[in-house]
Amino acid sequence: MTLKTAALSAALVLVAAAVVPLSSQGRGGGGAQGSAVVLRPARVFDGEAMREGWVVVVRGQRIDAAGPAASVTVPADARAIDLPDTTLMPGMIEAHSHVLLHAYNETSWNDQVLKEPESLRVARAVNHLKATLEAGYTTIRDLGTEGAGYADVGLKQAIREGIIPGPRMLITTRAIVATGTYAPKGFSPEWTIPQGAEEADGQSLVRVVRDQAGRGADWIKVYGDYRAGPNGEAMPTFSLDEMKLIVQTASSIGRPVVVHASTPEGMTRAVMAGAETIEHGDGGTDDVFQLMAQRKVALCPTLAAGDATTQYGGWKKGTDPEPANIRRKRESFGRALKAGVAIAAGSDVGVFPHGENARELELMVAYGMTPLAALAATTSVNARVMHMETQIGRIAQGLQADLVAVAGDPSKDIAAVRRVQLVMKAGALVRGGK
Ligand SMILES: [Zn+2]
Repeated sequence: MTLKTAALSAALVLVAAAVVPLSSQGRGGGGAQGSAVVLRPARVFDGEAMREGWVVVVRGQRIDAAGPAASVTVPADARAIDLPDTTLMPGMIEAHSHVLLHAYNETSWNDQVLKEPESLRVARAVNHLKATLEAGYTTIRDLGTEGAGYADVGLKQAIREGIIPGPRMLITTRAIVATGTYAPKGFSPEWTIPQGAEEADGQSLVRVVRDQAGRGADWIKVYGDYRAGPNGEAMPTFSLDEMKLIVQTASSIGRPVVVHASTPEGMTRAVMAGAETIEHGDGGTDDVFQLMAQRKVALCPTLAAGDATTQYGGWKKGTDPEPANIRRKRESFGRALKAGVAIAAGSDVGVFPHGENARELELMVAYGMTPLAALAATTSVNARVMHMETQIGRIAQGLQADLVAVAGDPSKDIAAVRRVQLVMKAGALVRGGK
């Protein structure tokens, strides 16, 4: 190629780039408004049940049709994507992430909060978001920047505007803690140490809830208990009245409240105040879980976080006997299942590497859930918990074309969700589909 023709082709590429509409998430799957794509997997998990012999038609950003091949009219111009031996499912949803954190065995949480520049944390988050999307997670609820200010606001915007690839984000900005109860801790009391969340108490909660919402929080995240006891044990922080004030202020402006709580009293106050999801819930008793089931409060158990931190602490899983904290977690998860609490799939990813979100589904099954229920948790249940059930979480006509194809049948072997063959977000192919 001569210099002149090289320059000419470069110019042509530029022209072509200029006329092709910017695809925010990747190569066009559904393509331009008119053209359609038909996906032909071995089976479809529609968010609730496994369906053999289904096809799915995508047009533009949405699912145009889904059903048995014989009953779905495939447009003559549709591009076919054959996905033999795969299961096509709704794009997975992560209900509890921290994209501004990275694995604690790389850098402790304290050092991430105190020593890492916010710009470094954002740079890492860009990679984390890409890894999350490529793992088949097309929506995440990110539950606090943990010292990285309002950085989630810009990341969410960058994804929405197609500047970086990543899942659709629901965000909480800084999250809220009661004064003196959070971390980093252990410094001379003369110093004021930056905290991993915003402190507020009493009436100031009203201002902080509104302030976080005004700066971009979709949900209000609150720490209902923390290791604030005299011996560092987990104890309730906000009073019931404070918790009610938070929920009242947030719900008045359309923000649901999500509460970190692992003590029975912290969980109970959150439920009584009107929180919509409880995170962790390790110490949940039969009574607390029955109350949650009655009030339709979902539990996001974050099984993968404890599993990871216990291994970072020296537990050799598979060799050593099961430590007491893991046994307690397995038992309390069992009590929640028995009580009929809605289980949201949220892993606390960030504690462990992003893109490994599926650990949560594997542990849910290992701790007693059926694979089909775990699949529903990460799709239709999470969509409902996030008030997005008319947009995502199922494969049905009119919903966003958020789709993931995995090799094998995850209702028989949940680990199949890791074998991602194709990812589509809002009709745009992110991975696979040639
Ligand atoms: Zn968390």
